[in-house]
Amino acid sequence: MSDCIFCKIIAGEIPSEVLFEDEDSFAFKEINPVAPHHFLVVPRKHIATVNDLGDEDRELAGHLLQVAAEVCRKLGVAESGYRIVSNVNKDAGQEVFHIHLHVLAGRKLGWPPG
Ligand code: AMP
Ligand code: ZN
Repeated sequence: MSDCIFCKIIAGEIPSEVLFEDEDSFAFKEINPVAPHHFLVVPRKHIATVNDLGDEDRELAGHLLQVAAEVCRKLGVAESGYRIVSNVNKDAGQEVFHIHLHVLAGRKLGWPPG
């Protein structure tokens, strides 16, 4: 989608610190990190929110979780732990309407979130 910031990051039109990429997915560092490790995992396919995942996206949605785990293994935080969050629409404060997993690690994460 032409006016989507994450599509532009995936296309290399906006720079990012890439942690992982493959045919279907892309992971890059969050610009305003709230934990020592904070990165985003996105599908290359533009899908606005989790509400918009279709049956055809079943494998892709699972793959994003596997990518999150793989990057955490590379960062050395898979065993200590991490949190995966996807904000959906306004009550969750979604700002970018291209599905993304926030992955947070490197500190004790409180629960429930504020
Ligand atoms: P959300 O509120 O879940 O839609 O989160 C979108 C996230 O994308 C925010 O935490 C932003 O800080 C982050 N973000 C926006 N632009 C960039 C960028 N150019 N590179 C990395 N992260 C970004
Ligand atoms: Zn997009």
